[in-house]
Amino acid sequence: MILIDGKKIAAELREELKQEVVELKTKYNKVPGLTVILIGDMAPSQIYVRNKEKSANEVGLKSEVIRYPDTVEEKTILEKIEELNNDETISGILVQLPLPKHIDKQKVIETIAPSKDVDGFHPMNVGNLSSGYESSVPCTPLGCYLMIKKIEPNLSGKKAVVVGRSNLNGKPMTQLLLKENCTVTITHSRTKDLKAECLEADIIVAAVGIPELVKGDWVKKDAIVIDVGINKTENGLVGDVAFDEVSKVAKALTPVPGGVGPMTIACLLKNTIDCFKRSQK
Ligand code: NAP
Repeated sequence: MILIDGKKIAAELREELKQEVVELKTKYNKVPGLTVILIGDMAPSQIYVRNKEKSANEVGLKSEVIRYPDTVEEKTILEKIEELNNDETISGILVQLPLPKHIDKQKVIETIAPSKDVDGFHPMNVGNLSSGYESSVPCTPLGCYLMIKKIEPNLSGKKAVVVGRSNLNGKPMTQLLLKENCTVTITHSRTKDLKAECLEADIIVAAVGIPELVKGDWVKKDAIVIDVGINKTENGLVGDVAFDEVSKVAKALTPVPGGVGPMTIACLLKNTIDCFKRSQK
């Protein structure tokens, strides 16, 4: 079984991006800039943002975090986004989710210019992705996609099952696999026989949020299995896939932690650089 080492693949991707930033600096005499807006002091968001800033600096991006207290008015955030939309030195804008209840998440997402939407959540990017056009793609499914391609460069005709249909993970993952000519089944909480669906799959991507939902006897021999789940349990952090069982049948599997997680941040940096490159065209 191939253990898909997300940490290693992410480190390689960061190294490639670092090189690309050097080349862009030589060509354009400027580097891509990423601005993260962080509202409130929730511990997980603070940690994510710190890691994003550290990784952005590591690859040579210009990065900035703008912090607001959780009492900040929605209007202040929307005005700041407009200001950043018009700032030519900023290539990517990310508003760290979740937001305080009094701030309308969709309004915030739709205020970010689609060309600077490094999370790929703007309806314009969602539409472009589903139409097969160039777009920013949400970072976690993009990371999953890059890992799958490392194991199997030609996905044409493969049967893929995506477990979970969130806008963040399941839906964009489905679009990426479809673009690669996979035959994709997207499953969710009302799917009648999830085990039977999974047993058909050459590729399974599990993004559910239920510890060890996907069992060993749900997986076809030699399938590629990507575990997006991050679940805190009494036994520590576990994914949506029963790792010990599935590792006995799968061809390749991502661990939790150390699989999808590290790729998510590396893909945020990739998206920032891609936004910069598109803006120079
Ligand atoms: P979400 O928005 O809660 O969506 C979960 C999806 O799973 C929904 O579509 C839901 O179906 C489906 N589902 C629930 N119970 C199911 C069942 N018994 N069988 C089949 N499908 C079921 O979750 P998310 O934001 O996509 O996140 C999923 C997991 O990934 C979480 O553990 C999260 O922490 C993790 N995550 C990891 C990263 C990373 O960087 N590694 C990033 C983001 C999220 P319905 O639509 O029918 O309700």
